[in-house]
Formats: sequence, C-alpha cells, structure tokens
Amino acid sequence: MTGYGLAATSELSTLLGRSISSARSSSYKARRAGVRVITVDARFTSQLCPDCGYTARNNRFSRDGFGCRMCGLAGPADHVAGINVRNRARLSVGTCQRARTCRLKADG
Ligand SMILES: [Zn+2]
Repeated sequence: MTGYGLAATSELSTLLGRSISSARSSSYKARRAGVRVITVDARFTSQLCPDCGYTARNNRFSRDGFGCRMCGLAGPADHVAGINVRNRARLSVGTCQRARTCRLKADG
C-alpha cells in the first residue's frame, strides 16, 4: 500500500487515560493500513505552548485545561498535548512548519 499518512504515538496515550495496550493496538492497526507510525518523546507535551514555545508546569492549570502564561493560548490540555506530539513527529520526519516550537526542549 502506498497511501500517505503519519501517526504519532507516545506516552500521551497514558495521559489520555488509554491503556498502553490500546495504544499498541492503534499502532498495529495504523501499520496494517499502511500508515507510517512514529513514536515520540511525550515529556512536557502538556506543559509546552505550541504557539510561542513557552514551557511551564503551570501552563497546565488543571487536569483538563491549558493556558499559556506567556502568550495566552488556551485550550483543552489533551488537545494541546496532541499538537505538540504531532509537531515532534513532523520534526522527526522533516516536515515541521514551525521549527521553533518543534525543536524546543522542555526546560523543567
Ligand atoms: Zn504561548
């Protein structure tokens, strides 16, 4: 199969409340469908602002809420973490459009 696709997996599945086996199952299904699966480091993805790159523990002000203390970007924490996982996956395959936030390493 030559379809184009990219799936990023990470420890985020655990953050989202899914089991590891569920994440593995999703990866398996993606591979069977011809989708390239990339595993990325999920550390600090729930604390990193995908817009300005500011990383702070209190960016995630609650279990479900994200609010960047630097630029004000706000949204559901799981969604923001997913954007960061996607950006890291894109960086690893060289398709990141926002090199600054893709490359940023968490500082704390
Ligand atoms: Zn920000």
